[in-house]
Amino acid sequence: MILVAGAGPGGLGCAQALQYVGREVVVLERSPELRTAGAGLMVQVNAMRMLDAVGLAEPVAAVGVALTDGEIALADGTRLGGMALGAERWG
Ligand SMILES: Cc1cc2nc3c(=O)[nH]c(=O)nc-3n(C[C@H](O)[C@H](O)[C@H](O)COP(=O)(O)OP(=O)(O)OC[C@H]3O[C@@H](n4cnc5c(N)ncnc54)[C@H](O)[C@@H]3O)c2cc1C
Repeated sequence: MILVAGAGPGGLGCAQALQYVGREVVVLERSPELRTAGAGLMVQVNAMRMLDAVGLAEPVAAVGVALTDGEIALADGTRLGGMALGAERWG
């Protein structure tokens, strides 16, 4: 049995990967409750490939939104630049 300390994205991803290759895993989390920080989880193309390798790409995509464009702006909305994020560019 493998113990994983911490149920953040790293710990849960590690646990899933270990289970995927047949290892018995127990995740230990010191926090007594689930907390939310930030606005969302942006999963890049290379991370989606890794999630796919451990059987998680489909469930993650099912609860996510595929981004096609990104923009960088000042707090007042002034646009500084943009970038293409779509699958046609990055695979
Ligand atoms: C305010 C804030 C906003 C953020 N916003 C975003 C965002 O919008 N989008 C985004 O993609 N990323 C965001 N991030 C970054 C993101 O939260 C981290 O990159 C991500 O959580 C790192 O995952 P992790 O599993 O490595 O660590 P963590 O998420 O920190 O997980 C570690 C876990 O281990 C537990 N732990 C620690 N020590 C022990 C122990 N000894 N025993 C048991 N459990 C233990 C902790 O309680 C914690 O739950 C934000 C971060 C912060 C602080």
